[in-house]
Amino acid sequence: DAVFIARSLVKTYVSGETEVRALRGVDLEIAAGEVVVLLGPSGSGKSTLLNIMGGLDQATSGQLFFDHLELTGLDDKGLTTYRRQHVGFVFQFYNLVPSLTAYENVSLVTEISDNPMRPDEALAMVGLEERMHHFPAQLSGGEQQRVAIARAIAKRPNVLLCDEPTGALDSKTGIRVIEALLSINAQLGTTTLIITHNASTQDVADRVLFFTDGQIYNVRKNETRRAAA
Ligand code: ADP
Ligand code: ADP
Repeated sequence: DAVFIARSLVKTYVSGETEVRALRGVDLEIAAGEVVVLLGPSGSGKSTLLNIMGGLDQATSGQLFFDHLELTGLDDKGLTTYRRQHVGFVFQFYNLVPSLTAYENVSLVTEISDNPMRPDEALAMVGLEERMHHFPAQLSGGEQQRVAIARAIAKRPNVLLCDEPTGALDSKTGIRVIEALLSINAQLGTTTLIITHNASTQDVADRVLFFTDGQIYNVRKNETRRAAA
């Protein structure tokens, strides 16, 4: 039961005379409920792949399926619908609205979703039930990122795409953010892809994909995690 299947996925950025081949033929299957870490040097194509999977960008050629939906066959409007229904995003910067409490930031999403959690449920999932009436400036960086994660999961997305979620945090705080993601995966079964340099995250993922030059050149599978879960 693959949730994503990519076949010979290519992305070429063209600006003026120059072409950047960001993805050079990626083949990949992601199983439902998997936690996958994307690793590799800057510029190797990790964000490009995540953005295409999340419907934020179009591939140049190749195929990408989400369940039975071919994302590579959708126009921008189709991708927007897909994204709203199925995808939660977490980025390096939290993009919380500073004038709203944690609860209110999450409710911006729950008010426009079909079958959302309550904001307090989503915040409890990331361990912030005690702080839901705090404003962003009253929270630490790690706590603000957990609010952003609560906001991302409140609409119950099938997949959670995380681009450097620990990039602005020290390693100890980063681990707590990763723990929140794993806890959500365990409770909701949300398929989770994470771009991170946080070393300990590699040990807790089901698989680590190593990128170089627009391709996946190695995959390390963690056989013990599912057994432990
Ligand atoms: P990573 O996430 O591994 O750092 P990216 O996917 O961000 O890599 O980038 C892959 C390559 O595509 C890089 O050479 C980058 O400069 C280029 N790139 C990414 N986004 C764009 C864009 N919008 N326009 C032009 N080139 C881009
Ligand atoms: P974390 O373990 O999440 O990094 P810290 O050790 O940075 O948390 O902060 C401990 C507590 O202090 C947090 O729970 C937070 O409520 C509070 N706090 C942290 N930074 C700030 C800040 N800039 N303004 C107000 N309160 C803060």
